[in-house]
Amino acid sequence: MSQRVVLPTSLEGKTILVAGAAGFVPSTLAEFYLNLGAKVIGLDNFITGSKSNIELLSKYDNFDFHECNIYESLPDFKGLDLDYIFSLASPASPIDFSEIPLEIMRVNSEGTLKLLELTKEKKARFLEASTSEVYGDPEIHPQVEEYVGCVNPIGPRSCYDESKRFAEAMTMSFHRRYGLDTRIIRIFNTYGPRMRPNDGRVIPNFINQAMAGDDITVYGDGTQTRSFCYVTDLVNAIHNVMFSNVHTPFNCGNPDEYSIEECAKEIIKVLGSTSKIVYKALPEDDPKKRRPNLNKLQSICDYKPIVGFEEGIKRTAEYFKSLK
Ligand code: UDP
Repeated sequence: MSQRVVLPTSLEGKTILVAGAAGFVPSTLAEFYLNLGAKVIGLDNFITGSKSNIELLSKYDNFDFHECNIYESLPDFKGLDLDYIFSLASPASPIDFSEIPLEIMRVNSEGTLKLLELTKEKKARFLEASTSEVYGDPEIHPQVEEYVGCVNPIGPRSCYDESKRFAEAMTMSFHRRYGLDTRIIRIFNTYGPRMRPNDGRVIPNFINQAMAGDDITVYGDGTQTRSFCYVTDLVNAIHNVMFSNVHTPFNCGNPDEYSIEECAKEIIKVLGSTSKIVYKALPEDDPKKRRPNLNKLQSICDYKPIVGFEEGIKRTAEYFKSLK
């Protein structure tokens, strides 16, 4: 039986491992837990993560970091208690799918396996950060967790979609076979400060194009939709799932849905840009619609996204400006 989540007010004395800590979502999550008093250990190989995100976390005395490739080996944690393990190490941008597909498949299979084995050894709690990509190009809308998806197993996105599906399957298998204390989230499109400006995803592309007065590159006719969640809202959702008692997946995100053309127009307006929209070829297997149904998450906690699109775009643009 799932109960309402009771969140801890402090995590002093607890140790949290964050795989992928140099990424923008994991580093925001790590900082959130550092502020709750936990000791946080970050792992990253910097294949897509940013050193600046680790420098930021290193200002906290209770942060420790190991540079490593988690699918090759984990650091030696002998003699150390670990309480919570977050599997957040996968590159997740469509340009990563074409540039580093094998690394993505290895981190989500061999890397996740190593984290699950560590969870078992330490009797910790584990959270797999999966993705709305497990739904593929969905035939039902909005997507509910029971929907099993429509994924092309050999398409250009399959390295990510299929390896995350595998990671979910492995997480559930460890739970069923060994009674491991596991959680799974499916993250929908997320944006915010600490993203790589050149990571190729729609929000960093459009903001940087708009700020430079360059053409805004809408792929296809721009009628495809996405629902964008600001990063701190996502962290709040992840935190609630980690402290729930439910092992099956939860959608995490923001249900406000925009067509990509609307998104371009809104960013031009919010940033007062003179950029014009241009239309480019639509990438293969680009999902036509994406929006989370959040009923399951909202049945266990009071989660509600609080940062709206306009505010989130302003804050993200400020961050990109600060890098220049
Ligand atoms: N997109 C776009 N212009 C860009 C980058 C992306 O029109 O410069 C589109 C892309 O084709 C997709 C949507 O924006 O339909 C979201 O793309 P993103 O790469 O952010 O993530 P996805 O949700 O596809 O994984």
